[in-house]
Amino acid sequence: MADPKGFMTTPREEWPRRPVEERVRDWNEVYVPGALLPIISRQANRCMDCGIPFCHEACPLGNLIPEWNDLVSREDWRAASDRLHATNNFPEFTGRLCPAPCEAGCVLAINQPAVTIKNVEVAIADRAWQEGFAPPRPPDRLSGRTVAVVGSGPAGLAAAQQLTRAGHTVAVYERADQVGGLLRYGIPAFKMEKRHLNRRLEQMRAEGTKFRTSTVVGRDIGAAELRARYDAVVLATGATAWRELDVPGRELAGIHQAMEYLPLADRVCEGDLEVSPLSAAGKHVVIVGGGDTGADCLGTAVREAAASVTQLDIYPLPEAERDEDTEPWPTYPKIYRLSAAHEEARELRTAPAAVADARLFAASTLRFTGDPDGHVQALQLVEVDERRRPLPGTERTLPADLVLLALGFSGPDRGDGLIDQLGIALDPRGTIVRDDEFATNVPGVYAAGDAARGQSLIVWAIAEGRAAAAAVDRRLSEGASHLPAPIGPYDKPMRA
Ligand SMILES: Cc1cc2nc3c(=O)[nH]c(=O)nc-3n(C[C@H](O)[C@H](O)[C@H](O)COP(=O)(O)OP(=O)(O)OC[C@H]3O[C@@H](n4cnc5c(N)ncnc54)[C@H](O)[C@@H]3O)c2cc1C
Ligand code: SF4
Repeated sequence: MADPKGFMTTPREEWPRRPVEERVRDWNEVYVPGALLPIISRQANRCMDCGIPFCHEACPLGNLIPEWNDLVSREDWRAASDRLHATNNFPEFTGRLCPAPCEAGCVLAINQPAVTIKNVEVAIADRAWQEGFAPPRPPDRLSGRTVAVVGSGPAGLAAAQQLTRAGHTVAVYERADQVGGLLRYGIPAFKMEKRHLNRRLEQMRAEGTKFRTSTVVGRDIGAAELRARYDAVVLATGATAWRELDVPGRELAGIHQAMEYLPLADRVCEGDLEVSPLSAAGKHVVIVGGGDTGADCLGTAVREAAASVTQLDIYPLPEAERDEDTEPWPTYPKIYRLSAAHEEARELRTAPAAVADARLFAASTLRFTGDPDGHVQALQLVEVDERRRPLPGTERTLPADLVLLALGFSGPDRGDGLIDQLGIALDPRGTIVRDDEFATNVPGVYAAGDAARGQSLIVWAIAEGRAAAAAVDRRLSEGASHLPAPIGPYDKPMRA
């Protein structure tokens, strides 16, 4: 570190967000452009180089955090970029989207605000692009072996990039019209603008990865053909089978799944559609589900100028501070967090009937009621205790013209027939069973990301894609692989 007393003299400062009034009028990222680089070297210098970096272990990619903190504090951006890209294919994604379990494990966080690790990561990644430190890295020679990757989310992309760089000929199959998985359709542009994804895809194309979009594997190309054509197959199809809400009135019009709603808003941003057919404009919106997907619906509905937006969370209001008895440092604690979308809702008072940030905690949906035309009109809820038992006398009704269900995902979608055609074994949760080498029960077929892990995070998807690529490369090169693999355990609980 450039100044060993940095952690005592410099307070934590994060990348500032743009004013709410300004940012809800567009779809660009919520941060002030250009405001991170001037502060980041001093922030990196807050790293104590503690000797036993729990942050490094807490990061599923095993990012070399103290090393690049030191290099950034000395303004050696090229070396910092090399160290960062050594463990992470897409740091501009994680630097924007990761919930940063590393920061919960930062040793400084025992009694002070953690180092802004995620901000340092994104600063290195963006600077690397600016300065040309991340050129395409095509392989020196081809192995003559072929790999099909099914699914182009972060797991599929990481696997494809690693395998292409190892010299294999890789084709990525994607059923959507564009590459990116949830990074393309799902995660709103105000969290990560699509230009970051497009830039990486250009790099991957220049390295030799081929993309086949609008191709449903299992329908447009059969599983048998895929296996016959390629030496190995990596399934990175995500966990897109959504959970349902089985309450009276669910059949009414105007009640949609979050993942029916969010991709349409993305298409408006991309210029594919002028207006979303499910736009929240002028509507009373209720989001059922208190997680990140629900928060993304909230930020989207606010930008579409909803009349009101309320988000229901069945869990009680979390504590402000970690409970040292049940969730001691360095675990990732369940505490009250205010996302950018919640900050917007709080400032704009989108839900007068809810707590200030638009969320109603400990709220369980009882039923929906509709108008004579069969369109939803209201949602009835009841407060529940920690065991989800209704509290008598707490029923209330919220107006609702648009209801968005954000209740999570159970596993890979089986509608396209791929899993059944291949004869892939699933566990009781519905996710793909694979061994320590990422191999499924079908020889030559591997699985990575949400499809095998269950609904999770970008950082885990990249880590799994890298690890699966290393396993495939070991087999194709008969044990002579040089691809690094993040060290598991990959059977950890799904959330950070
Ligand atoms: C709305 C939303 C917001 C999120 N926000 C965050 C966040 O801020 N931070 C974070 O860390 N995580 C976030 N997540 C979770 C994160 O996006 C996922 O964990 C991650 O994208 C999983 O990556 P994946 O590659 O396994 O699958 P996915 O990204 O789901 O990609 C799978 C791809 O496979 C394709 N596919 C499926 N079947 C076939 C087939 N038969 N043929 C061809 N293609 C097929 C799908 O079309 C899809 O493009 C969010 C999730 C959602 C739903
Ligand atoms: S990927 Fe996530 S956990 Fe790893 S260093 Fe970046 S922010 Fe931290």
